[in-house]
Amino acid sequence: MFPSCCSCCPNTHIDFNCIFQIFGYLKPRDLLHLARSNKALRSFLMNRSSAFIWKKARNSFEPPFPDCPPDLSEPSYANLAFSHHCHRCLKFTNTRVLWQFRARYCPSCTTLM
Ligand SMILES: [Zn+2]
Repeated sequence: MFPSCCSCCPNTHIDFNCIFQIFGYLKPRDLLHLARSNKALRSFLMNRSSAFIWKKARNSFEPPFPDCPPDLSEPSYANLAFSHHCHRCLKFTNTRVLWQFRARYCPSCTTLM
């Protein structure tokens, strides 16, 4: 059973198989948003045992997105590739991935490097 997110919604217990089925249809960016929505989902999605969910989401693109580099976790890879916030100033703006630095920066922060 998936844990309740808070005491005010005790009827949110859902079977893990249902969670896996639902999450299997999501894109990596959707999973990132879910992982940032509450502690229970974050704990569940950031756990290494949930890596297959991220991998399935990543492989839902045609052609499939490249495999996760060995130095990154699946959620870190998704954050780098699919989130649009600058890793330095945290602004949601026009950013680009600097793969060699494993970071995503906006133009202002890129010039500060
Ligand atoms: Zn920035």
